[in-house]
Amino acid sequence: MMSSTQLAVIGGGPGGYTAAFLAADLGIPVTLIDESPKPGGVCLYRGCMPSKALLHVAKVMTEAREASAWGLTFAEPTLELDRLRSWKQQVVSRLTGGLGQLSTQRGVTYLQGRAELLGPSSARVIIPDGTTTDLEFAHCVLATGSRPAIPRALRLESDRVWDSTRALEVPAALLAVGGGYIGLELGSVYAALGSKVTVVEMTPGLLPGADRDLVAVVARRLESVCDAILLDTTVTNLTEEGTGVRVTLEGPSISESVLQFDRVLVAVGRVPNSEIPGLERTRVRLGDRRFVEVDGERRTAEPSIFAIGDLVGEPMLAHKASHEARAAVEAIAGHKTVFEPAAIPAVVFTDPELAWCGLTETEARAQGRTFQVARYPWAASGRALTLDRPQGVTKLIVEPDTEQLLGAGLVGSGAGELIAEAVVAIEMGATVSDLRLCIHPHPTLSETIMESAEVFFGQSTHVYRPNRS
Ligand code: FAD
Ligand code: NAD
Repeated sequence: MMSSTQLAVIGGGPGGYTAAFLAADLGIPVTLIDESPKPGGVCLYRGCMPSKALLHVAKVMTEAREASAWGLTFAEPTLELDRLRSWKQQVVSRLTGGLGQLSTQRGVTYLQGRAELLGPSSARVIIPDGTTTDLEFAHCVLATGSRPAIPRALRLESDRVWDSTRALEVPAALLAVGGGYIGLELGSVYAALGSKVTVVEMTPGLLPGADRDLVAVVARRLESVCDAILLDTTVTNLTEEGTGVRVTLEGPSISESVLQFDRVLVAVGRVPNSEIPGLERTRVRLGDRRFVEVDGERRTAEPSIFAIGDLVGEPMLAHKASHEARAAVEAIAGHKTVFEPAAIPAVVFTDPELAWCGLTETEARAQGRTFQVARYPWAASGRALTLDRPQGVTKLIVEPDTEQLLGAGLVGSGAGELIAEAVVAIEMGATVSDLRLCIHPHPTLSETIMESAEVFFGQSTHVYRPNRS
């Protein structure tokens, strides 16, 4: 069977479905292809959303335990795993079902199947029943996402070695390999649900991309909920033994180099799904780490084909994918456009959350920029104290001469929501004076952004000593 469309979008994650929906809104006939029955991709089915549902449960459990310090004591929680699994599934189904409806309402043709390229203007889709359908297109957006990286030393065909897609169970002892986003987010969930969690990170610190002073706040808390955090440590071998996994570790912080765990979660990064069958029949080029190479419009070296999302590079985040989708589709619609963000926010949804955008202090230093850091400790925030969460920091990275905001970082409860203000400020070219002069509601954690700006001028109401370092 052969059909034709103006735009074919391959991959139905946050990049792909955003591209298809925007194209439809702009009046472009569009076919969206994905292996799942509904759009959603990794983010909705196996990534962002299920993990955040579990992190919410972990937060409620933690707060219930901590409430005894405020004179409110709850009984120890009883965990009904089946109900928890089904609630998580309900969240996923509601979201993917909603996307399915939005797709139909917009007149997007949704094809469930696996796509391969026949050339620069056609694709074949293998439908789950084994039949195929061929599709001619004027343009194509590749949005096939990424999958977990599994280095050789961590390859063990076993139900006891998990990646982040694994169905929820609560093992007695879990090893999380990788102290990045997934290791820390899912590690925290399992720790709250009752597992003894050990985190192994091969670099000298957790979350290598984030500023150390902010990571230190998360690390302190994680140390109190995890069994162990082993830095500078690598897993060199995994073997099944009895009902668990025997893990060989190398690093300065471990006395024993062989440990036994019930389950091992491997979260050491992701690799792009760039082995799209038929890609070699086009001029699309792969570059560093096999990411698809694109220009500012997200156009590949094959003019009819665009690529977005995890497939084209870091940061591998859903909101980066969906904004690239906008650039690609606008270019296809003939608009002048470029994907050139000044600030892409990053949020690690641990407890406390860690968020940053624009330049980090480490990056500013590495680039030889002249900058000042204005830091506001949450111990001085009334709102943080009412939440019993004074362990937080808000900091602004500022160019002193122009007072321009270059970057911002926050660690603390709800940091992920707060970072959006800094993104807007950076994108709008705001100065620290702008932030200082904007009235923020009291008592809120958002005031910490305004007060950090006051710190820059040595005039913070709640921080006594002038601080211009
Ligand atoms: P994907 O979401 O990966 O979607 C690609 C889709 O293409 C998939 O459905 C795949 O099946 C399909 N596909 C691939 N090849 C083909 C083919 N040949 N034919 C048809 N279909 C194909 N990001 C955040 O911003 N915030 C978070 O909180 C967050 N949490 C995460 C938690 C976890 C556990 C994980 C694993 C990731 C998380 N991410 C988060 C990252 C986020 O999921 C990705 O950045 C995002 O999904 C990338 O979107 P995408 O559209 O590029 O691709
Ligand atoms: P990651 O890149 O965040 O972290 C991987 C960590 O593993 C790094 O700290 C790295 O130094 C370490 N590492 C690498 N090899 C190792 C080894 N052999 N032994 C021990 N440590 C090793 O990757 P991830 O946690 O797998 O997540 C993948 C991506 O998914 C993230 O980079 C992010 O883009 C996305 N994600 C985002 C969120 C969010 O936005 N909240 C949540 C989850 C995932």
